[in-house]
Parts: sequence; structure tokens; C-alpha cells
Amino acid sequence: MTEGFCEKCRAGSTDESSGSIKEGLFGHEFKGEAAKCPECGSHVAVLWRQFAGFPVKLIGCYRYKLVGAHFGGVDFLSRRVPDDQALIRRTRLNSILFTLAIFAAIGVYEWWRRSHR
Ligand SMILES: [Zn+2]
Repeated sequence: MTEGFCEKCRAGSTDESSGSIKEGLFGHEFKGEAAKCPECGSHVAVLWRQFAGFPVKLIGCYRYKLVGAHFGGVDFLSRRVPDDQALIRRTRLNSILFTLAIFAAIGVYEWWRRSHR
């Protein structure tokens, strides 16, 4: 595996990076995984601004490569790629369903806890 992006991935993306972002339920998150590259291990992901886990604002599609994880966050590289509408739709839908499922699970748990006292 090479440092950074391989030739092919660099050619298919622009120099524009997402910069450093604050990830989290009330911050930004890269969602989804498409066009995984066997050469450098990067993939295309959609950067969303989210609120309580719900994707509220599309920032854009980026070729994303994780370079390291540590306490308090991850280090990554990103390069802008053209918007992938199918991936955008899929990540939006998936994270809405995922967040709703978590809220539903919390609701069921609360109901169970109250009814078993
Ligand atoms: Zn690559």
C-alpha cells in the first residue's frame, strides 16, 4: 500500500480537499463506500453535515483514505470527486433509517424498562 493516493485515484479527482472536519453526530461524517481502489485502499464517500445523526446538508463526494486513527479522531486524506447521485441517495437513506432504528430501539428499551418496574 502506498502513502496517499495512487496515480489513478489522483487522476480521477481534484486537489480540493475537505480539509479537517469535526466528525460526530452533530458534526460531519463521511458515509458510504464506493469505487474502492485495490491499489491505494481509498474509496469514494459522501461528506454530510449531520444533526443528531440525520444527514441535513450535502457537502460533496470525496475520495477518502484513512491514514490513522487515534484517541479523539482519525487522520484522513480526501480529494473531491464529481457528485455520485446514487451514492448520495443511498447514504442519505441508510443513515436516516439507521438513526430512526436507534431512536426506535431507545424507545422500546424505555417502554420495557417502565413496564417492568
Ligand atoms: Zn487508488
